Amino acid sequence: MVHRPSATSAGGLLQLIRETGGLTRHDLLEQTGMSRTTLYERLDRLVRAGLIRESGREQSTGGRPAKIVSFDDRDKVVLAIDIGHTRCLVSICGLDGSCLGERLIHRDGEDLRALTDQVALIGRHLLSGLPGRRVIGVGLAIPAPVEASTGARRATFALPDTDYPLVQELSARFGVPVSVENDARALALGESLCGPAHASGVVLGVKYSSGVAMGIVTEGSVMRGSTGSAGQIGHVRLDPEGPPCRCGGRGCLTEYVSGRALVRDLGRADVAAVDDLARAVDNRDPEVVEAVRRAAALLGRSLGAIVQAADPGLVVFGGRLGRHPMVASLLAEQARAYSSVAVHRQTVFRAAQLGHRSGSVGLTAIVCDNTLNPARIDGLLDSADPPPRLGTMCEAVGGA
Ligand SMILES: [Zn+2]
Repeated sequence: MVHRPSATSAGGLLQLIRETGGLTRHDLLEQTGMSRTTLYERLDRLVRAGLIRESGREQSTGGRPAKIVSFDDRDKVVLAIDIGHTRCLVSICGLDGSCLGERLIHRDGEDLRALTDQVALIGRHLLSGLPGRRVIGVGLAIPAPVEASTGARRATFALPDTDYPLVQELSARFGVPVSVENDARALALGESLCGPAHASGVVLGVKYSSGVAMGIVTEGSVMRGSTGSAGQIGHVRLDPEGPPCRCGGRGCLTEYVSGRALVRDLGRADVAAVDDLARAVDNRDPEVVEAVRRAAALLGRSLGAIVQAADPGLVVFGGRLGRHPMVASLLAEQARAYSSVAVHRQTVFRAAQLGHRSGSVGLTAIVCDNTLNPARIDGLLDSADPPPRLGTMCEAVGGA
């Protein structure tokens, strides 16, 4: 048996129990090398904090069947807020990422205070339908670079108001910590969690909707880059003399292929948003199909270079345009054509399996990692006796 000295604190034990999916007390003694008295005392604190439970019975091998100590996630939920360029999905997720309630809203303008008010109202409404559950954290995805060490966001045209304390506001309103990630990276993480096991080494997740961006997940970890900008492929310069981009540069990929650029260039009253584009493709509108095909081919070619460099096992196409079957298949075809067979031979290319929920599932995983990390759990358990429960009761969120 592997000895895990790091698993000996209560928080470390919880992590071991979560990672393994549950162990018997006997297994825990063997795997941690702890004394029975110390182990049982720490398990007792985790039980009193509502973090673990003993249930079921391991398959009997002759002796007395033993109960399994497992993570108690039955009463815990995450509030996931996935903000895109033009829409925002608010959802309540079980800790396995399952959807317990959701609402999609259109972002109206750039006023982050108004958006926060609207999201808080919807979040409270969804949570109020889940009495007895506890919200352990808020996951927030934003269409902007997010710095790795601080979770700080940088202003972009899709989320310009950096003075407004979005994270602090949400944390205050729901009484729990807020974990922030870039929206394309949350999407990539969510999809990586349901990908084929052989493909999990490097996962690329493309969010192709009003904007275009990518998330890169390596060995289960989201790559954020030195400045928090990893995956911002929309601003790859195709032509330094090309049309001006809202980022201040010229000839960026997004100016040729994004849903926003397509809507602008088509200039049609009946195609005013990315939803209209997808619908027009479904209806085989020849002008829109041709424009979307041209854009997807160009984006696919750019992805070929990234596939060649990153050697991914899985490439996922998400977002309102990216997960459209015609677009996903074109992107895959071009990414294959513009990378070598030796690299992409075993790569799985596919539309997002979780549909519009990829980001919420990724956010749930991020909140679990942050909220249930050993140091935080140890701090919580040491803060009072009896140990406090994690999170806020759903019916108590937001007060009146
Ligand atoms: Zn740009």
